[in-house]
Amino acid sequence: MTTTATLMDGKAVSQDVLAKCADRVKRITDKTNVTPCLATVLVGNDPASATYVRMKGKRCESVGMTSLRVEMPDDTTTEQLVDKVTQLSNDAAVHGILLQHPVPGQIDERAAFEAIAPGKDVDGVTIHSFGAITFDLDSGYGSCTPAGIMRLLDAYGVKPEGMHAVVIGRSPILGKPMAMMLLGANATVTICHSRTRDLSALVEQADLVVAAVGRANFVLGDWIKQGAIVIDAGYNAGNVGDVDFEPAAARASMITPVPGGVGPMTIATLIDQTSIAAAKQLGVPELI
Ligand code: NAP
Repeated sequence: MTTTATLMDGKAVSQDVLAKCADRVKRITDKTNVTPCLATVLVGNDPASATYVRMKGKRCESVGMTSLRVEMPDDTTTEQLVDKVTQLSNDAAVHGILLQHPVPGQIDERAAFEAIAPGKDVDGVTIHSFGAITFDLDSGYGSCTPAGIMRLLDAYGVKPEGMHAVVIGRSPILGKPMAMMLLGANATVTICHSRTRDLSALVEQADLVVAAVGRANFVLGDWIKQGAIVIDAGYNAGNVGDVDFEPAAARASMITPVPGGVGPMTIATLIDQTSIAAAKQLGVPELI
């Protein structure tokens, strides 16, 4: 099968985002003498989480920000984590907080997220941020994966207005905020999940499909309407997405690769939102 679809190159678009961000960071630092700082909090020893945190820290440094790495043991309690996050929320030298998740099972993850001050929630995980995005208010930050997807759509000139968008997945950090962002962009949105009946029939109606399921090659090529735009947010073992790529690409007009599609946009959005948070906290919003 031949791929006729345009590949949506998240790596290239993310480099543009990071270049603009580096410029903003320089202007912030020149004007305030303060270097923007992202605190990353890693609890436990999960190797994949440790890799993600390292990547985020490195990306931070590549645009001239500092990253403050906080590591806590596997047996950390909810109270200990909430205390640590609260301390970072109150630390004027920290402008953004990333709590890497999932956290170990004994921790109340929601309680830990909610300890992040709204102005420092650059990963967009708090109830405040979700509410702000849903109500189209400026006071919160978008969850980074769906916000990165919106940036990627924009970079490729895709206007969701009037489209039927089908989002597969309803997690608090991906499917739900994705649906709200697409709704905010005037798409007509269908949200699917594990109890949805006749999923393929719904996907077949979609002008825009966002797969956020966490199951390798789950969305089959023949579910895709001819000319649809396909965003694969999935990232499964072996660098495999949630969409069966080749057959889907043969029908789609645009499609994201895995890797190199949504993943780089997620990190770039986190870094960019940290620089925006720093500009706001340091009293230089004109540099955003
Ligand atoms: P999650 O919390 O496990 O949510 C998965 C969603 O898929 C749930 O809403 C679930 O429905 C739904 N689902 C499961 N089986 C289904 C089925 N048979 N039919 C329809 N829906 C089904 O996962 P997540 O955190 O949203 O992540 C989803 C994927 O995105 C994963 O591959 C993850 O690795 C990837 N991801 C990538 C990035 C990135 O930067 N590229 C960032 C975050 C996540 P229920 O709600 O009914 O259980």
